[in-house]
Amino acid sequence: MKVKLLPALDDNYMYLLIDDKTSECAAVDPVDPDSVLAAVSEYGVKLTSVLTTHHHWDHAGGNEKLASMRPDLVFYGGDDRIKPPSLRKVVHGDRITVGSLNIECLFTPCHTSGHICYYVTDPDNDPAVFTGDTLFSAACGKFFEGTKEQMYHALVEVLQKLPGNTRVYCGHEYTVTSLKFAQLVEPDNRDIADKLIKCQELRAAGQATIPSTIDEEMKINPFMRVKVKAVQDHVKKSDPVETMGALRTEKDNWKPKL
Ligand SMILES: [Zn+2]
Repeated sequence: MKVKLLPALDDNYMYLLIDDKTSECAAVDPVDPDSVLAAVSEYGVKLTSVLTTHHHWDHAGGNEKLASMRPDLVFYGGDDRIKPPSLRKVVHGDRITVGSLNIECLFTPCHTSGHICYYVTDPDNDPAVFTGDTLFSAACGKFFEGTKEQMYHALVEVLQKLPGNTRVYCGHEYTVTSLKFAQLVEPDNRDIADKLIKCQELRAAGQATIPSTIDEEMKINPFMRVKVKAVQDHVKKSDPVETMGALRTEKDNWKPKL
């Protein structure tokens, strides 16, 4: 498989997930249909499906226009608020195929109540997961429609169970800011410090910090590290779920220094 990053709006990422064997592809969160279709034509691939992570406009807001431009496409998502009306609603464990690629739907409600992550396997490559606004590199999404228990379930009991080499493709380029918060939580964590320097260099060169991997997130992401004592100590909690909630509240009230 190949994954092409397509920047959109201020800091969103849309993706093309391409099956090398058949040239079939899926678009993930195609908020800017013109740019997606231009990329499809540039890469000479055959777009058949659309994977929508959640209903927020900056992810699902291009679906209706894309459906009107390409009525042949099949749209998938986990929330009735996602357009178009022909949406194929998916639930946890549902499987989708794009060419020879196998995609498993992972239900991860919290940021929104119908959020789905899409886990892709292919015998010839490391797996990939499209995490929308549930898991960001070095952070997680805000709990708009869910609880700390739900985000704990999504991050620890669902996404952490994926193989460590799974590449993580998230919905926004937030990594540098997220790492600054991670460093506040764990000032002595070398992996966070090293990753911050690397990501600042990438951004200065106009490049994306995406993808990371599940293994890497386990080292740098405080929301993935809620069982780690240093993280629990920072928020003065000893329970991982309480740590998740306290970290989110702290980050919601935190402003990075410019
Ligand atoms: Zn969102």
